[in-house]
Formats: sequence, structure tokens, C-alpha cells
Amino acid sequence: MRTIDHHIVGGAAGAAARTGEVFDPNSGQVQARVALGTTADLDRAVAAAQAAQPAWAATNPQRRARVMFRFKELVEANMEELARTLSSEHGKVIADAKGDIQRGLEVIEFACGIPHVLKGEYTHGAGPGIDVYSMRTPIGIGAGITPFNFPAMIPMWMFGVAIACGNAFILKPSERDPSVPVRLAELMREAGLPEGVLQVVHGDKEMVDAILDHPAIGAISFVGSSDIAHYVYRRGVDAGKRVQAMGGAKNHGIVMPDADLDQVVADLSGAAFGSAGERCMALPVVVPVGEKTADALREKLIPAIAALRVGVSTDAEAHYGPVVNAAHKQRVESWIQTGVDEGAELVVDGRGFTLQGHEQGFFIGPTLFDRVTTDMSAYREEIFGPVLQIVRAPDFETAVRLPSEHQYGNGVAIFTRNGHAAREFAARVNVGMVGINVPIPVPVAYHTFGGWKRSAFGDTNQHGMEGVKFWTRVKTVTQRWPDGGTGEGANAFVIPTMG
Ligand code: NAD
Repeated sequence: MRTIDHHIVGGAAGAAARTGEVFDPNSGQVQARVALGTTADLDRAVAAAQAAQPAWAATNPQRRARVMFRFKELVEANMEELARTLSSEHGKVIADAKGDIQRGLEVIEFACGIPHVLKGEYTHGAGPGIDVYSMRTPIGIGAGITPFNFPAMIPMWMFGVAIACGNAFILKPSERDPSVPVRLAELMREAGLPEGVLQVVHGDKEMVDAILDHPAIGAISFVGSSDIAHYVYRRGVDAGKRVQAMGGAKNHGIVMPDADLDQVVADLSGAAFGSAGERCMALPVVVPVGEKTADALREKLIPAIAALRVGVSTDAEAHYGPVVNAAHKQRVESWIQTGVDEGAELVVDGRGFTLQGHEQGFFIGPTLFDRVTTDMSAYREEIFGPVLQIVRAPDFETAVRLPSEHQYGNGVAIFTRNGHAAREFAARVNVGMVGINVPIPVPVAYHTFGGWKRSAFGDTNQHGMEGVKFWTRVKTVTQRWPDGGTGEGANAFVIPTMG
């Protein structure tokens, strides 16, 4: 069986004592094993990063950007192969896998402009003969810990900006779909990135803890579920590091009585069920305003759900593929049962779905609940599967309150033809990313991505200028150049003494 190894300069510290299983979610079979690394493996990666980083930071930003330009071309040239590998480990359909890569590449495009955004600030004559300037300097060594659901995009969110800013970067991708991150690191080398600037270590909690505690790692970016995000944030900050940690989500879509329901249903098919619901910006809760809207929406949703095609991830006609592994399938199905036990009305049950010829695959049919209420744990918690919940709201005020009071605050959408209501909603809702007639409001790469409340710990977002801020420190220099003479300007300046 194939073993997926770390991408560390000089190789790992030794043969892996522990490995993890990487499944083909279509067949349910183990297709490879991934090395689960130790502190000794991380130490080797950190030593190589320390050796490489100073020269990389001293490479002028334009030259660093050229590596990004070449990397973008290489990823585009290898798009088919990358998408197939991604799809075979994650289970998302090929078109979706390409989207995962493309959205990451857009951050690389942003990173191609790094010389411009790294320019500092300058004040001429801040005092007599005194100038002040500031520069953005790299942190040194940064690390990224990423989830299974976007194995290309999220690593690129992080390493694209971190490396362009002059840092060395150590990536710890999800152990469930680790091949594409390694391939991306290989392509960065091919694009001209010096050895040691981007390395990949695999592992689980043991490796994450080693990263959190390593004194030479200055900044950590994490994306994953909220409890782990909170843990990573606390432990990393405790160790004196800069940490940003994005967590889970439960995004709501508000449907106003004046919304175009056919459009809403088409949007929900993709936003609730696409990628088997395994997106942090999925829309698993729909909030129709008023009973009439709710009944009409439900009536249109049922046939739309029946028309969804669940298939293997290589099926070009499939709307979505299997979930990532058996444990996750079981978890999603048990949340469906919890919803039933808590009294929600199960309108379409996706449990027990099998695909002929792929009976062991991790498939779940699309599921629809109606009359879900806020006291249910199946509403409060993230399910992360192809499950859509209808929560009926009597009025606009309730519709604003529901996502605002939810523990998660990643994304939210409102569907309406009323500009005033939309504007009011966007201003008042307590959520980080808002869509107006846009079901998945993921900001473009030169803006920034980040939720609120338990969807993000820390105070900077991913990519865009927030990413640049996260991966750099500001150094501010105050200078004067007296020439030994007397008179005005720098020569006249005196530091006041007390008393
Ligand atoms: P996860 O939390 O299980 O894993 C994320 C990372 O943490 C992985 O690299 C994993 O190896 C590591 N990890 C797992 N358990 C750990 C532990 N006990 N201690 C230390 N590290 C541990 O998340 P996942 O299942 O891979 O991804 C899905 C989750 O990520 C969902 O909750 C989803 O909403 C969230 N997500 C959030 C965003 C966002 O930007 N807010 C984006 C994508 C995914």
C-alpha cells in the first residue's frame, strides 16, 4: 500500500511508528496510509525552515512574487491531476475539486502583488529634521493547520500570503486528504521556491501539539472545528505566539416573502447539498419569513431535492459525492436521528442511501427537516452534511435575531427584492460574512475571509490585507541625521530632561 510521506528537507526523522488511513470515499476502501509525525519530525522541518528563511526574507519582494506567478502557471497546468487526486481522497465531485483549487489560486494571484502591499508608511518631517517610517517584516516561521474540507484552497490561503511576505511555512494538512497539499509543496519547489521555505508535516493531535509548543514557530493559522480552534488558540497564545483560529459554522439563509422562490431553491440546492454539505460556508438552515413563504418554499424544495443526483465523485452529472469517511457518515446520520428525536419534522430522509456498485461508499442522500426550533441541539450544532433545516420565522425581526444569537457567526444570506430590508439586515446581523441574494458569500481573495463568535478566535481574517497583517510585524523607525553644526532642524532637536 502507498504511504504518503512528509515533505521535509532531508526526509523524516525515521520511519513513521504510526500511520493513518486515507480512504477512497467512493468505494469505502483504504487507498493509502499517511505518516503521522512526531516532535522529532517537526524539529527537522523547523531546522530546515530556520536555515532557509533569512535568505528568503532578503530576496526582494518582486522576486518572491515571481515564484508565485510561476506556481500559478504550474497549478493551472496540473489542474486535472490535482482535481482528480483531491476528489479521490475528499469525495467532492471533480468540478467542485477544481473550484477548491481555483479559489486557492486566487489568493496566489493576490500574493503576486505583494511588492505593492508590503510598501510601508513614511512621514517626512515628523519633528525638526526627523522622519518616521515603518516596514512590514516577516514573522520568521509560520505554521498552518488545515481541515479536510478544502485541502487545496485553505493551505493556499495561508502559505500564499505567508511565503510572499518572506516567511518560511510549515503546513500540517488534514490527515484525511493529505496528497494535494504535498503536491502543492512540490509545485512550489518547481516554481523556484528555495528548499525549506515550504514544508509539509503530517499528523494528528501529537503533531499539532508539537507545533503549538515549538518555540521557533512565531505564528499559527488554524482552520477546523470550533472546539479544536479554541484549544489551538488558547495553547498557542499561551506559548506567546500570534494565532488566528477559524472554527465551525451554521449559516442561515433568510427568505423574505418577496423573494424569487425559484431562484432561492436553485441556490439552496447548491449551497445546502453541494460538496455533501461539507463546506463551512454551506447554507444548512433556511429561514422563511411568514407561514405562506414557508409552505411555498417547502413545496418547491421537495421536487428539487428529489432531482439531486448523488454519485461517485468522478461522475460528471452528479451534484455531489460521498462524505469523507465512515465516521463522518455515521456522525451525520446520528444528527438526523437526533433531529427526529427532538421533534423536528423529517420531510426527506437521506439515511440508508446506497449507490449500486458502490455499496460500501460513504454516501448520504439529501435530507430535509421542517419545523426545526432553536431549542434543538440539531439546530444549535454543526452537522456538516447534506441536511437542510427549515426554521420558520414569523417576521423580519425574528429572522435577524436567529443567526445573530446563534453560537456560530461565519456566513449568512438574505434573499429579497427589497433593498431597504437587505441593507438593514446586513447592518444589524451579528455575523462576519453576509450575502444579499448570494447564498455562499465567500469574499474574493483581495478582501478577507473570517467569521464572528465561535466561528473564529483571534482578531485577523484570512488573506487580503488582513492576511498580510497576520504574517508580518510592523517595525517603526524614527530617524534624524544631525550634521554636527548648529541651527535649525536635526541639529536643534533636544531630548527634554525631567526637572
Ligand atoms: P477538525 O477540527 O477535525 O480538524 C482540523 C485540523 O485539526 C486537522 O488538521 C486535524 O488534524 C487537527 N485536529 C483534529 N483533532 C485535533 C485535536 N484533538 N487536537 C489538535 N488538533 C486536532 O476539522 P475537520 O473535520 O477537518 O474540518 C471540518 C471543520 O472545519 C468544520 O467544523 C468546518 O466548519 C470547519 N471549517 C471552518 C472554516 C472557516 O473558515 N471557518 C473553513 C473550513 C472548515
